[in-house]
Amino acid sequence: MSIRLRLTLLYSGILACTLVVFSVVLYVLVGRFTLHWQEQALAEEAAQILTQGEFRLTVIRTPQGKVAIPQTFVQTRDLSGQVVSRSINLGNYELPLSDKGLAALTSGEANGWLEIVRTDNGRLLIYSRPVVANGQTVGILQVARSLADLDRTLTTLRQYLVVGTVVSTITAFFVGWVLAGASLRPINRITQTAREIGQARDFSRRVEYEGPNDEIGALVTTLNEMLTELQAAYQQVEQALVAQRRFVADASHELRTPLTTLRGNVELLQREPPLPPEEQRAILQDVAAEIDRMIRLVRELLTLARADAGLRPRWEPVQLGPLLEDAVRQAQLLRPRPVVRAMGTRDAVVRADRDLLRQVLLILLDNALKYTPEDGTVEAQVVVENGRAGIAVRDTGVGIDPAILPHIFDRFFRGDAARRGDGTGLGLAIAKSLVDAMRGEIRVVSKPGEGSTFTVLLPLETSVPDDERAESRLVAADRTVP
Ligand code: ADP
Repeated sequence: MSIRLRLTLLYSGILACTLVVFSVVLYVLVGRFTLHWQEQALAEEAAQILTQGEFRLTVIRTPQGKVAIPQTFVQTRDLSGQVVSRSINLGNYELPLSDKGLAALTSGEANGWLEIVRTDNGRLLIYSRPVVANGQTVGILQVARSLADLDRTLTTLRQYLVVGTVVSTITAFFVGWVLAGASLRPINRITQTAREIGQARDFSRRVEYEGPNDEIGALVTTLNEMLTELQAAYQQVEQALVAQRRFVADASHELRTPLTTLRGNVELLQREPPLPPEEQRAILQDVAAEIDRMIRLVRELLTLARADAGLRPRWEPVQLGPLLEDAVRQAQLLRPRPVVRAMGTRDAVVRADRDLLRQVLLILLDNALKYTPEDGTVEAQVVVENGRAGIAVRDTGVGIDPAILPHIFDRFFRGDAARRGDGTGLGLAIAKSLVDAMRGEIRVVSKPGEGSTFTVLLPLETSVPDDERAESRLVAADRTVP
């Protein structure tokens, strides 16, 4: 059942119940009061008859002229209950008196006795009272009135009340139906729009609403806000999917190239007659270099895939000075020239994952060494700024063209200078993923021909005791690693 029908039925039901209760109470009260007035009037009339011997007469016109007829019926009985006299308007009819009434009146138990009897002409209200002379009850006076007029009035009232209740309820139902429809119309529009948005997946659409900022206004605002969020999330997912597809395509391309080279080299080695031994040695060297590159590529791809799946760093306080010296030493094992200088008097403790941070430093140092001529300079230094600390790697190498600078952190991006080298284009992408996982920042400043500075910044470890920090600040001023 729809809310509209439910609301309409509820309101008309409440109205119908109220009207029924009101009608019943009104009907009962009117009936009671009118009967009470009739009883009082009869009692007064009986008293008047006894004291003044007067009847109230009603004058009616007959073809013979005007005739005065008593309004009430009057009858007297003796103490045994026998009728003694009757007013002429009674004709042959005798006003009844129950035995109980007779006994109560003759014994002096009651001063008046009311009874209602049914006759062919409708109900009759009979009031009986004792006739007392010289302190003795000598007989009974009975006065009666027809209740036909009262009954007719009550019947008419009852009909009006029933018709009024039914008509009011039906009217209320239709008016309620129209009003409920008008108030629920915006909700129908919201449902319709939401359905269309869902079917078309068009999250740029919004629900239009020009009414007041009531409950429905608030619902529309919330729904539109939710659509904005949904649109952003949907776009993000789409972008992520596009990036992932590109990544998979690039990865398979990068893996296919060394495999094709390997296959070509193996075919050369299988040739008959065999190649001279020096050529075979050169080919085998190529094969080994290519396999090394593939191993590196696969390892880097795995690191990136892990980072994409959501890396959970093992947080710990990491003292930067010793870590920097360690990374420099490791980097120089692979590329001894130019010599890296670990600079500065500062040290700091950051909150990070030691292994991830070492990996980032190795990537930055390896790049600096790769893109700097042997007579150039590479410096690494601990830096501290605004509640963060990190390491800056500065080189006087080839530098980076401003046009490609925004892309160097993209996956598989390699600058012109790198084409000849053994890079995979994944180093900086991995560094950025790892720094992001540690809630840090990586940035670069570079000038072509002059060199580049890569800086990694991480949150300072606040829980480190002060004396430990003071000690760490005393790390050697100029650490030159051979
Ligand atoms: P690659 O394996 O090619 O070094 P990276 O992701 O580490 O891949 O670097 C992306 C590109 O950024 C490099 O190809 C190079 O053009 C540029 N680049 C990175 N570091 C430096 C640097 N220290 N000096 C000059 N260019 C750099």
